[in-house]
Amino acid sequence: MPADLDSLMHAAIGGVGGSDRPGQAKMARAVDQAIASGSHLLVQAGTGTGKSLAYLVPAIKHAVAAGQPAVVATATLALQAQIVDRDLPRIADALAPELGRRPTYGLVKGRRNYLCLHKIEGGYPEDEEGLFEVGEVDRAAGRIGEEVVRLREWAQETETGERDELVPGVSERAWRQVSVSAEECLGSKCPMVQECFVERSRARAKNVDVIVTNHSFMAIDAFEGRQMLPEHDVLVVDEAHELVDRVTSTITDELTGPMVATAARRCGRMADASAMREAGELLQELLGGFPEGRLMGVPDSLALALARVRDAARSVQSELKPATPADNDGARQVARAAVDEIFDNADRVLEGRELDVVWISQDPRRGAVLRVAPMSVAMLLRDKVFGDRTVVMTSATLELGGTFDSVAGTLGLRGEGGPQWTGLDVGSPFDYPRQAIAYVASQLPAPGRDGLSPAALDEIEVLVRAAGGRTLGLFSSTRAAKAAAEEMRTRLGDDIPVLCQGDDQITTLVRQFAADGRTCLFGTMTLWQGVDVPGSACQLVIIDRIPFPRPDDPLASARSQEIARRGGNGFMAVSATHAALRLAQGAGRLIRRGDDRGVVAFLDTRMVTARYAGFLQKSLPPFWPTSDRALVLKALKRLDEVAAPVLPVHEPARLHQSVKPKTAARQRNTSATAESALGSAAAADRLEQSAAYDALGDTLLMTDGAGPVAEEPAAITPEAPDPETARVSEPQVAAPVDESEVPQAPAAYVPADGWSAEDDEELRDGADLGLGLAELADHLDRPVDAVAARAEALGLDIA
Ligand code: SF4
Repeated sequence: MPADLDSLMHAAIGGVGGSDRPGQAKMARAVDQAIASGSHLLVQAGTGTGKSLAYLVPAIKHAVAAGQPAVVATATLALQAQIVDRDLPRIADALAPELGRRPTYGLVKGRRNYLCLHKIEGGYPEDEEGLFEVGEVDRAAGRIGEEVVRLREWAQETETGERDELVPGVSERAWRQVSVSAEECLGSKCPMVQECFVERSRARAKNVDVIVTNHSFMAIDAFEGRQMLPEHDVLVVDEAHELVDRVTSTITDELTGPMVATAARRCGRMADASAMREAGELLQELLGGFPEGRLMGVPDSLALALARVRDAARSVQSELKPATPADNDGARQVARAAVDEIFDNADRVLEGRELDVVWISQDPRRGAVLRVAPMSVAMLLRDKVFGDRTVVMTSATLELGGTFDSVAGTLGLRGEGGPQWTGLDVGSPFDYPRQAIAYVASQLPAPGRDGLSPAALDEIEVLVRAAGGRTLGLFSSTRAAKAAAEEMRTRLGDDIPVLCQGDDQITTLVRQFAADGRTCLFGTMTLWQGVDVPGSACQLVIIDRIPFPRPDDPLASARSQEIARRGGNGFMAVSATHAALRLAQGAGRLIRRGDDRGVVAFLDTRMVTARYAGFLQKSLPPFWPTSDRALVLKALKRLDEVAAPVLPVHEPARLHQSVKPKTAARQRNTSATAESALGSAAAADRLEQSAAYDALGDTLLMTDGAGPVAEEPAAITPEAPDPETARVSEPQVAAPVDESEVPQAPAAYVPADGWSAEDDEELRDGADLGLGLAELADHLDRPVDAVAARAEALGLDIA
């Protein structure tokens, strides 16, 4: 008889040393039911729910009964490590007696994460950007050379060839000397395919019950039908709020002149690539002359240059084709992969697909880069990810403005023909209204364009002093974070050290912040999601302004305009949704455990005055809301007085233990990202851009819960009122948001007649985002004429 869920949960909870949690039990039942019914599930589970156990147990139950693996995809390496290193071994041990055998599991990663034996044996040419052509000082070349020598020695002894096992790690450049992308791999024609580390690892994964991978690998597998993952009918996506961004980044293509030059060089004597090289030079010259930003249609001059690149690449492709499969070798395959990429990307831009957005960015290191990305991945996800398996999406942040609709819309679950799904919020084990205050500094002026106002800087100083340090400052721009850090260093002196993103590696900064209660850490987007510092080291989170997408973000503005064109509210569907997600994540940095206490301070009055304020407020954890500055300062001081020592800062989480025992010592290789080694070299390059985030997540500060906590945890709101009746401004009814239609969220607070500073700010934001007059009038609840007149008075250019 198959094991029942309750007994499996009971055994698993005992195995991990946990206790019954209502939210966890509710989630496990819902996941079990979703798998049984085949209906997709979006489940929001707050920090502390124990959600990995709540999906792993039903997933294992199903995998063992059905004889098919379940796949779990995460956004960060940190979560992968936690699941494979910490959760699964204990759950598997605990479930073995119930299931009659020990469930098995494994981690599946991209090809670039493994040594390529054929390359080690000399089957590929040396990467020309690698060992000796680094174009840097000799010392750097020497260091990379030493790393490669060490890699070759390690290759003789490793049993798995996994980069994560190398102690210490090596630079990306050195690693590229011993690894290949999926496109460069010779596949079944490789003379070493039988011994290949990647192939052996994939073969092992076919026989396990749970496969853990990352969002991008899962997405490439689904989109390109590569079948890199074994057949499966259940997919769990954890950190699901990240999925759309990860997928978009995975399928964003780019083209530069140097990329064309590199592809031409790789052809060597196998093909005449001179025309392609010349076309690449022309392309680079042209791209350098364009300003940054979105291209509304490809200008003729650029189209001509792209056509030359594409046609030249096509002719090289024909020359590179081997006469017989046996004539293909590593050098030829590397050249073919590079030229194919040039051809495909130039062709894609020229094709002008209806939903593709094309833009130029100026990269300080690489110069002008032409990029192309889909405006929306919703339909792709609907067809390829949700099409033929049951999907469970989970995160602490999926419900925005009190509804799952906006997230479901971005995932392709809404609209005609959408699949069956349900949304469930299992809540949080924390008592948010008693543990935290949401403070809006309503006396401040609305944030302007010229950085932090003197009043905002004064407010930061007063708050930080009251908190005795212990502050995580989340800023919407690097400039603001740096300005605030510099100013606070001058004002606070040595008593309260202020660290700032960019001073050092993020991981080092977070560890310093966590290790000393007096220390503050200021930074930007990376910190909004990746910091996990429980205990007294973080009792104040400051958010300088609502994190709308940058007005010049080509994808956000294109999405917004498209939704407006279809009659929806682009501002709410794109900008407000983006901001709500980030705010929820940022505010969520404060309370990580049941005994954490603190304040989230918003220095942006639009949190209570703007028409979308209700939507944003409803997206936050239900902290106790106030704009009473005196009360907040008193609470912060009290918390500082009774603060327990900070929790011990442990060494970074170790990486996974896969199904095969390891021989090498294990340590996190901080320069490795699982996602840097997916299908193609281009994908790998793109994904390296998110390495900083992953590296941060990877060294998530783990505590074992054994550290000291406040002896007398401060109830910071001694008579905490009912959060539902005590909002600063009454929160608004949830405004369902999707990509096609967004009802207005009415104002939480409507200022007096006339244009307030907040109205002007919203108007400016809207103009920056490319909103039209009608939409702005709708958004501001004013006649079109009035909006047009005000825009003119402010010198705003509105379409
Ligand atoms: S199959 Fe591919 S990855 Fe494996 S050894 Fe051969 S070329 Fe390298």
